[in-house]
Amino acid sequence: MTRIASFATHMISVPRPQPVWTAHEESKAWSVILTEVRTDDGLVGYGEIHGAPMKRICEWVRRFGEVANGLDALANVAVWQKLFALTSPRPGGIEGRDGLPPPIPRGERPQAMAALAGIDIALWDIKGKAAGLPVYRLLGGESRPIFTYATGGYYRPDAADADYGRELAQFIEFGYRAVKLKTGAGSLAAEAERIGAVRRAIGDTPLLMLDMNAAYDLPDCIEFAKAVEPHKIFWLEEPLHWYLQPADFARLAAATSIPLAHGERELTRFSIRDFIVQGGIRYVQFDATRSAGFTEALRIAQLAEQHGAMLAPHTAPEIHGHLCLAAPRCVFGVESHGGPEADPLGYGLFREHPALRDGHVHLGGQPGFGLEIDWAFVDRYRRGP
Ligand SMILES: [Mg+2]
Repeated sequence: MTRIASFATHMISVPRPQPVWTAHEESKAWSVILTEVRTDDGLVGYGEIHGAPMKRICEWVRRFGEVANGLDALANVAVWQKLFALTSPRPGGIEGRDGLPPPIPRGERPQAMAALAGIDIALWDIKGKAAGLPVYRLLGGESRPIFTYATGGYYRPDAADADYGRELAQFIEFGYRAVKLKTGAGSLAAEAERIGAVRRAIGDTPLLMLDMNAAYDLPDCIEFAKAVEPHKIFWLEEPLHWYLQPADFARLAAATSIPLAHGERELTRFSIRDFIVQGGIRYVQFDATRSAGFTEALRIAQLAEQHGAMLAPHTAPEIHGHLCLAAPRCVFGVESHGGPEADPLGYGLFREHPALRDGHVHLGGQPGFGLEIDWAFVDRYRRGP
């Protein structure tokens, strides 16, 4: 049996040349936590976590490691269940009679679920390496190009509408056929102007998505959707405030012809289920690197397929690309962030970034997720011990 022997984490932050904003928050750096799981027979699996605070998440990886060390590394679903079970009370749990840690406090839930994500992805990497197959082939997928789009238009304090237009038009020059604009930070009239400027700059053909970062209440969002419909919008992403629920999304979906995309903020398949089944979302953006991992993303893919929803996972094309190839009937594509200049972390961290050609990414044939880490890059941008 291949047993889990050790866990490590690496916090990496590449400072941005200038801070940028979404409608919701500032970003001063591109950041990721790399997880590393070793087995007693010499396999090494890598995973990625996108979340904060990074130190706290690494602490949860360490604590989960104490529970998972010695377990069967190829029984990743059993490991997942054992760790996930710690998020809820159990008989005798507060005394730790079963030798396991007490239930995880609710305030720590997002960080613990992020840690679970990084461990689970590393275990899938190990499984692929043990079998000598890329993860997508392990799951029965075939090697083929995966559609991708580039996200940009992060708010910069001194930028004009035309600057955002030029930025996204450049993605089209790189070969992308679809681009996503950050929106939602200004007044409705100002945002509609800005979106119109971007549409004019990229031309009529490319797909244009809007990422609203939860900027609107339901009535305002319906008004926003009406105002931007003439610009041929492909989807409205995370349109409603953080506390609004599937019932609110369903009302929005009924009020606009623009499809809805959602999922990056959801922690488990159970809340995603309600957005798919009752919320009227058409594009599912669950992020396996932010919460619950690849195992959970596979469960969500199967549900999406049965409800006619499409997979459009948030970030990390090198991980989510495998999910897309494993679920060919319900895939829209993966998210990119442009070329090496716009995405220095994505391109710098791995020796081989999935190749971008004609608006599609192409995964390689290496076992696991095929992530060859550039350790000099890691050491250069390593944060903390
Ligand atoms: Mg988003």
